[in-house]
Amino acid sequence: MLGVFALVRKFHRTFSRLVVWLIPITIILGAWPGRVDGSRPDYAELFESGRVLKVGQTGEDVRQLQALLRDLGLYTASVDGIFGEKTKAAVLAFQQSYGLLRDGIVGPGTKQALYGQFLKLYPPDKHTVSAGETLWIIAAKYGLSVSQLVKLNKLKDPDRLFPGDVLVLRADETTPVSGNGSVSKAPPEDTSDEANLSPVEKFPVPDKRICLTFNDGPDPATTPAILDVLDKYGIKATFFVIGHKAREYPELVKQMADRGHVIGVHGYEHKILAGLSSREVKTDLEMAQTCITQISGYKPYLYRPPHGMLDETQIREAQKLGMKVLMWTNVGGADIGARSPQEVVERVLAWARDGAIILLHEGFPHTAKALDELIPSLARMGFGFQNLSPDSVTEPVPGQ
Ligand SMILES: [Zn+2]
Repeated sequence: MLGVFALVRKFHRTFSRLVVWLIPITIILGAWPGRVDGSRPDYAELFESGRVLKVGQTGEDVRQLQALLRDLGLYTASVDGIFGEKTKAAVLAFQQSYGLLRDGIVGPGTKQALYGQFLKLYPPDKHTVSAGETLWIIAAKYGLSVSQLVKLNKLKDPDRLFPGDVLVLRADETTPVSGNGSVSKAPPEDTSDEANLSPVEKFPVPDKRICLTFNDGPDPATTPAILDVLDKYGIKATFFVIGHKAREYPELVKQMADRGHVIGVHGYEHKILAGLSSREVKTDLEMAQTCITQISGYKPYLYRPPHGMLDETQIREAQKLGMKVLMWTNVGGADIGARSPQEVVERVLAWARDGAIILLHEGFPHTAKALDELIPSLARMGFGFQNLSPDSVTEPVPGQ
């Protein structure tokens, strides 16, 4: 009898333990409505139907709207596909928090903003890089940090990003219970700050203009030739120089300034600053800015993060030093890994469009030669050139 009793007790103990574990697992897997095994909910009807949604309407797209608003923590009433006053209140709250026109109507603008939040809540597994994207832009789109993207994809050099590259956006999906579900449940407030920061300064580049920008100089092997080609065509460009190299080759920096180019800061050490403390970032940027100012007589007002690895701390610290962050519009460097000048030319021509900010480098062997062919080709396509001065789009370097 005792044996049976002990067995019952043992079963009871094991069973209670099992229940204790089953409850959270069930919650994670099941109580997050619309999510099955970590997959994304299907809100296609909402985003793909061209219908403007407002009070009185019913349908699957309304149901999906309610479900997404609930996922965003803005809607607690029933997800019934009927657009009533409570749905309208949730839409108004959404429009309010994302700086949209508050009308309680879900038109194309509100749908686009909802889609942006949907991508952050439920990032797809992968992203295919298209022209014009930087790592920062891709990270912001999915509510990730640049360092997360770098880690997930084991990127050695984030500059080496080309259209068509496929980036993984999530860790292994085979273990949905391990936390992917709860990561996605983070309230949208967590990422809204990042989303509101604009990584690329909107310089008023007029139509049919292209800005040529060069990172990583000065470099005694390549900078003189680049400066000569630019002079040959009377073109003003923007150079993002590395502080310690500027100190090493001050004459080249002086020449950039004397020949009318804009000089920006590309860090002092050229190390990845994303993830470092404000003080570390400030020290690096300030050293570079001071050094360039002393050499050229111009105080840089533009900053471009080394390796394109931007985070909020850098944006803030650059702003405190009177600098604006400027990224670029092509993907990766047009001259990185190019085997011939022709290859550089082809890449840039593929990215040429009104207002393009083209990233090239000092330090690669084919850049100067490519420019000699590229500049006349772009001119034939009707493009003019300019540097990135803060208040004038046609005048070369303003003094500070
Ligand atoms: Zn660089």
